[in-house]
Amino acid sequence: MALIPMRALLDHAAEHDYGVGAFNVNNMEQIQAIMEAAVETNSPVIVQASRGARQYSKDNYLRHLMIAATELHPEIPVAMHQDHGNSPATCFSAIDMGFTSVMMDGSLEEDGKSPATYEYNVDVTRQVVDRAHAKGVTVEAELGCLGGIEDGHGAGLSGDEALAFLTDPAQAEDFVAQTGCDALAVAIGTSHGAYKFSEKPTGEVLKMDIIAEIHRRLPDCHMVMHGSSSVPKELVDIINEYGGSMPETYGVPVEEIQEGIRHGVRKINVDTDNRLAITGAIRRVFHEHPEAFDPRKYLTPARDAMKEVVKARMIAFGQAGWADKIPAVTLEEMAKRYA
Ligand SMILES: [Zn+2]
Repeated sequence: MALIPMRALLDHAAEHDYGVGAFNVNNMEQIQAIMEAAVETNSPVIVQASRGARQYSKDNYLRHLMIAATELHPEIPVAMHQDHGNSPATCFSAIDMGFTSVMMDGSLEEDGKSPATYEYNVDVTRQVVDRAHAKGVTVEAELGCLGGIEDGHGAGLSGDEALAFLTDPAQAEDFVAQTGCDALAVAIGTSHGAYKFSEKPTGEVLKMDIIAEIHRRLPDCHMVMHGSSSVPKELVDIINEYGGSMPETYGVPVEEIQEGIRHGVRKINVDTDNRLAITGAIRRVFHEHPEAFDPRKYLTPARDAMKEVVKARMIAFGQAGWADKIPAVTLEEMAKRYA
């Protein structure tokens, strides 16, 4: 099946009431971990690359890693997504490189830091939708601003400050009508990074009512939860047990994400949890085998640790078991549907 437009995955997920994890990729071990988890659970895949990842991998390495993944596992549908495009130009370069989905994050200006006006957001998102849909490529947009910073991208708002930038459901309805975006990242009180909450968040902290209201107004819009790592204590503990020093922190509980999925969330971004798993596994090898210096000696357990996290999320989000049931859709077919 190879690469498919993300829209095809999200439509299938909506039809069958499940969510799809979107996992960030920077290197070979990460994409191997994701693909192995997908094969073991028969899950469709969204792999995503931030601007930072594209820079780190010089684009070409990343592109060929994605192609390698689809060659090795033709039975797994894979959507390749640009995470947080800061400008139409970033999205266009991703489309030219073969990405089947792009995020135009016009909630911030091109610097990736300053909250933008609504008019700016509509304008840049519509530009990207026009060009992307002509090629069958999916577009995710963002309305409202999340807290924290991800890969240098973000307004750096504290949890409390971010409350002033929650997504307004009425505005979301207008935004989707004006832009024609396929998926919408919503701000409901989550933050990027490992330090989301200083205590375990409840349904009060996460504004699930916003998700429910957007779903009521826009039943066909696929919502996206960013900053949705769960930051499990077990993973932080492993890091700290083997010489790390991470303060106590809480992420978004998996049960809260499942609640979101019941109300129309179809894509869930997870990056921090995988980073924690990798780091803990490497620290453990360094601690237990200080004589080791073959990178495979620590990258193999790192890859396995990430695979276990990805598998657990695939099962919890409900995407497990669906890979072989997703209709094959090409970009060309999708372009015709948009036309
Ligand atoms: Zn994000």
